[in-house]
Amino acid sequence: SAVDGGGSSIGGEDIKFSVMVSLFQWIQKSKSSAQKRSKFRKFLDAFCRKPQDNFAAMRLILPGLDRERGSYGLKEHVLATCLIDALAMSRDSDDARRLLNWRKGGPKTGSNAGNFSLVAAEVLQRRQGMASAGLTIKELNEFLDHLASSENRAEKTSILSDLIRKTNAQEMKWIIMIILKDLKLGISEKSIFHEFHPDAEDLFNVTCDLKLVCEKLRDRSQRHKRQDIEVGKAVRPQLALRVSNASAAWKKLHGKEVVVECKFDGDRIQIHKNNSDLNFFSRNFLDHQEYAHGMLDVITQNILVDKCILDGEMLVWDASMNRFAEFGSNQEIAKAAREGLDSDRQVYIAFDILYVGDTSVIHRSLKERQEILQEVVKPIKGRLEILVPNGGLNAHRPSGEPCWSIIAHSVDDVDKFFKETVENRDEGIVLKDLTSKWEPSDRSGKWLKLKPEYVRAGSDLDVLIIGGYYGSGRHGGEVAQFLVGLAERPAPNTYPRRFISFCRVGTGVSDEERNTIVTRLKPYFRKYEYPKQAPPAFYQVTNNAKERPDVWVESPEKSIIVSITSDIRTIRTEVFAAPYSLRFPRIDRVRYDKPWHECLDVQSFVDLVHSSNGT
Ligand code: ATP
Repeated sequence: SAVDGGGSSIGGEDIKFSVMVSLFQWIQKSKSSAQKRSKFRKFLDAFCRKPQDNFAAMRLILPGLDRERGSYGLKEHVLATCLIDALAMSRDSDDARRLLNWRKGGPKTGSNAGNFSLVAAEVLQRRQGMASAGLTIKELNEFLDHLASSENRAEKTSILSDLIRKTNAQEMKWIIMIILKDLKLGISEKSIFHEFHPDAEDLFNVTCDLKLVCEKLRDRSQRHKRQDIEVGKAVRPQLALRVSNASAAWKKLHGKEVVVECKFDGDRIQIHKNNSDLNFFSRNFLDHQEYAHGMLDVITQNILVDKCILDGEMLVWDASMNRFAEFGSNQEIAKAAREGLDSDRQVYIAFDILYVGDTSVIHRSLKERQEILQEVVKPIKGRLEILVPNGGLNAHRPSGEPCWSIIAHSVDDVDKFFKETVENRDEGIVLKDLTSKWEPSDRSGKWLKLKPEYVRAGSDLDVLIIGGYYGSGRHGGEVAQFLVGLAERPAPNTYPRRFISFCRVGTGVSDEERNTIVTRLKPYFRKYEYPKQAPPAFYQVTNNAKERPDVWVESPEKSIIVSITSDIRTIRTEVFAAPYSLRFPRIDRVRYDKPWHECLDVQSFVDLVHSSNGT
């Protein structure tokens, strides 16, 4: 029926999934993008004969864009436990451990470590036959519908076990990749859309609806007239191009009327209002209804039109600090809102308007859209703000009041605004051409973003490696990132006794350098079982399970100092134990020349932060 909610699976009854598997393998193997595209084209021509076949196949090749079924609730770890049960394996068996430890690699996993589907394929090969049982893509889509709508692990396990019976190991590997929404085919979404239909990408950009695209564009020879955006359908957002400094930005927007805004670090959210119906679409066009808990009344009472689409950023206001909360706290706040706590701390900052009443306004200039925005939204301080220029630079931040947007008349205006923004510990700035229209998915430079560069914080930050994290992909099976710590300030003329976890760092060194560090530390790496074992007493860490390293360095005397550099701004941290942690840290140099006890101490670091904040 047309109203099956979970997305109908009509279509694909004449296409064997094994045919798609061959297609995937061909595409993966082909070197050139032209070859990849022509393989896909041939598949469409030869196999997708009925219009309904298109969606049945497209949703399998672009699983990340399919919104017809809900989420599977199966990330690698849960998927591993379900597969172990579906295959009736003992949890202690080598294969079970391979699956559960897919990142590190279990006994003899070797080169597949870090790639879940390859590890799973290896396990499945020993347990599944070679013969295909002829599963069709219609059947597969039905299985996947059930998998998404099933409530608990037991149900998911039983569906997976049915699937395993109906497939061979090769097919099952690709199904796992579909479930994890990453096929690693080496062909862009743009190319797939283009081969499907010349207007497919455009239509997807304004609807974010793969099913609709497949249904409307069933005939490749028939061009589709450009469709406008509509309320209730997510639009792919206008994006910003990165520039390296204020003068590059100013040059690019030469002669234009330019507005400069603070770049907020929250969630890009489109609010679609249709009378009392609200959608909160994020960048990946999921509708975050959990935001409605805290925002419903504010929005319905202060948006003065029945229908509109606002573009903006969802943030959290920290009243005690009188500033926006650090990035990453949004999800937690949304969760709190769901549970009925603290919901009034959510703030929406509307910086654009895309639709009003019955018409799209994306073709109007930004300047006109800002005028409309002011007519449509009644701002409520700290809850629903609008971002429009607040006079010239002279009006800038009087008496500490934040001013988040200015009209810039010179590169100096831009530079000054940027510096103040960064000092205020915001993420950076966005420059916009006030005459430009809003274009879905465009990153051509009508909006430019400027974020701070990495700088050395005055002197070297010499920190001690206290733990390691296993990597995935290319770095699978080996320690690829380090947990570094600051020393607790020792009494005069003594060595530090405790180290406080500070940040996680992986970039900055070549693979070779990293290998050298890992080889040196390997004899001292100790695995710790949580929560059975506590970390060694000379390390202080928080209770946040997410940031526990996979291995500890047995004792500080055995470890290595690294100099790290980072963005000039630091962030307050809850995850790591030190009062500050760095943003975007990278290793600058490995200090084999420095003994472990010359590690920077927390107090000196705090002083350093305070002195560099004033410059
Ligand atoms: P980044 O990681 O730098 O945020 P991105 O790829 O997520 O990059 P970009 O399009 O490059 O996104 O940068 C624009 C993003 O910045 C928007 O998606 C939005 O979330 C955020 N943003 C914050 N403040 C603004 C603003 N005033 N105007 C536009 N975008 C803003």
